[in-house]
Amino acid sequence: MRPARALIDLAALRHNYRLARELGGRKALAVVKADAYGHGAVRCAQALEAEADGFGVACIEEALELREAGIRAPILLLEGFFEADELALIDAHHLWFVVQAEWQIDAIERARPTKPFTIWLKLDSGMHRLGLVAADYRASLQRLQAMPQVREVVAMTHFARADELDCERTTEQQALFHQVCDELQLPTSLGNSPALLGWPATQGEWARPGLMLYGATPFAGPHPVADRLRPVMTVESKVIGVRELPPGEPIGYGARFVTARPSRIGVVAMGYADGYPQFAPNGTPVAIDGQRGELVGRVSMDMLTIDLTDHPTAGLGSKVELWGRRVPVSELALHSEGSAYQLLCGLKRVPRSYVDA
Ligand SMILES: *Cc1c(COP(=O)(O)O)cnc(C)c1O
Repeated sequence: MRPARALIDLAALRHNYRLARELGGRKALAVVKADAYGHGAVRCAQALEAEADGFGVACIEEALELREAGIRAPILLLEGFFEADELALIDAHHLWFVVQAEWQIDAIERARPTKPFTIWLKLDSGMHRLGLVAADYRASLQRLQAMPQVREVVAMTHFARADELDCERTTEQQALFHQVCDELQLPTSLGNSPALLGWPATQGEWARPGLMLYGATPFAGPHPVADRLRPVMTVESKVIGVRELPPGEPIGYGARFVTARPSRIGVVAMGYADGYPQFAPNGTPVAIDGQRGELVGRVSMDMLTIDLTDHPTAGLGSKVELWGRRVPVSELALHSEGSAYQLLCGLKRVPRSYVDA
């Protein structure tokens, strides 16, 4: 069998969840959208269910997958419903949902649920993607609170630039949120991972950690709190071929790397069809039998090449970590001009196996 695999450490996931809750204050909604950022939503939700206060997903399809797997904790649809007829399923499966626009409030008014809804009413405090603008927020809230279809409303907002630790924008968004929401006496929810890790003033009733659950830092450099995270996913494969080459020999497509010295080049069963970044440059870090080493040459669909010259004991069958414990996914993201979010969500074809100890 092809040796590529992703090991998912569920104990690390729980460790990171606890850190998120500690930072967020009271409750934390574990965000498991996009198949838990590539980690497997059902397995991750099961591993967290005993302690998680709830889960966040992007759409009803993702919520139903969790319900079908027996997850009974609250599940929030982070983008609400896309079509009014989803409200019947939302009712049937006890889902919570975000309300971010007036047309959704009209649809709720027309709905006849068997039990009243729990709604997270989103304020656009400056991200300018989804959410009600400040001038409309209170009137929309009053409309919802007057409806028998609504039981509870949580006030929420989302930050655009919390990963930039020296940026004023997060403070401005916080200020607008507090100005609009403080006197409404609703439970509140502000922080995504970068806000929880980097903006400790960002507390509310509910934290909404996503990326940090998976042990990846959203920041470009070291950070005292983010450094307490434990990586959950380790992607590894093996050396399936070795070439000894004199100086001046090109390697792979486009001859992007040419040997400068007598070299040993290892071929690894991992490529961009697995989600490894195709344009990761020469020198991108990998770990070879536990030692840091370097990618050389262009990444192919199913294979990539690494420099074994300085790893004399490595060879055929050596284990190569592409990201994980020794090569943080955020570090790989910096090298490949991507993001940790995209790398984790983009994992494909590689079978996952789970450890829980
Ligand atoms: C995805 C998402 C989150 C989690 O964000 P991270 O940066 O991964 O922590 C939180 N809130 C909302 C509304 C989201 O869509």
